[in-house]
Amino acid sequence: MKAVVFAGAGRVGLADVPDPVLREPTDAIVRVQRAAICGTDLHIVGHPGQLPEGFVLGHEFAGQIVDLGDGVRGHRHGDRVLGADFTACGTCWWCRRGDHWECAERQFFGTGSVFGPPLPGGQAELVRVPFADTVLRPVPADVSLDAAVFLGDTLATAHVAVQRAGLRPGDTVAVIGGGPVGQLTSLAAQACGAGVVILVEPVESRRHLATIEGALAAAPDDARALVEQNTDGRGADAVIDAIGGQTGLTMAFDLVRRRGTIVSAGVHTEAWSLPAGRAFADELCLRFAIGDPMRHGDEIAGLVRSGAIDPTVVASETIGLDDAPGAYRRMAERRTLKSLIRL
Ligand SMILES: [Zn+2]
Ligand SMILES: [Zn+2]
Repeated sequence: MKAVVFAGAGRVGLADVPDPVLREPTDAIVRVQRAAICGTDLHIVGHPGQLPEGFVLGHEFAGQIVDLGDGVRGHRHGDRVLGADFTACGTCWWCRRGDHWECAERQFFGTGSVFGPPLPGGQAELVRVPFADTVLRPVPADVSLDAAVFLGDTLATAHVAVQRAGLRPGDTVAVIGGGPVGQLTSLAAQACGAGVVILVEPVESRRHLATIEGALAAAPDDARALVEQNTDGRGADAVIDAIGGQTGLTMAFDLVRRRGTIVSAGVHTEAWSLPAGRAFADELCLRFAIGDPMRHGDEIAGLVRSGAIDPTVVASETIGLDDAPGAYRRMAERRTLKSLIRL
């Protein structure tokens, strides 16, 4: 089959690789009809660690089941499904609590061995899905595959970040970062009862998209003033960091009001010095969030089915699999927001 593969540090290629086959009775094989390229894909291609050349990339996919192990109970041949971005057994202590990320059986599609044993990804014509009853979710008839592909990671991340913020109706929410997760966080906050949502982003086209989609937007240097203007000088009730690293956390502390909540849904790899004096004196709440499409799949699907959220607004281009290497470059150069792949 044809697949998008890692081709050496910073490079992506197309390759013919062997078709995946069932290995466990709980596996399914999915014919991929939609896939998407994510910032995480760009990051691991640029920082490959132990990623072997030729490894199939991608963790965002939706399509049709074409083969099933004998142990799969909840799906049939031909079902339209979307994949979670990582696997979980569905039966251990963590999974029973809904904390799939902690499952000992976790494998993250298409990322090498960063988050568990390597598992070839979904930017390919076929993908093998372990624990199919847990990892795959039916796509409702009234949800398009174009939308469904965003439920497995990007919207799941945005959704959990908003849930962790514990919004009260009308709360003012600042979202740091206008990438795909930041844009969908803005939509999820609006859908979940936020008042004014202010998206903070340096790239003008990304600020423009946020304003079309119902938020206010500010460049980083203007953010504090716009937040103060909308909160009588108090600061945002909740700040959601969708970029990660020290920049996101530092800006979040600058924008949040006393007794406010900060949720970080960005990736962190380095230490950061917590302004503990202020966090204590102002009784701030700081939480972190990793999307879990297995736990929140029904909630997210409900928001999409109702029309409350249209996740396809982040797809700035639609391409075929052959154009994926070029699409990686365009995303890395910030010429596009997110690439949707139709197979
Ligand atoms: Zn992703
Ligand atoms: Zn488990």
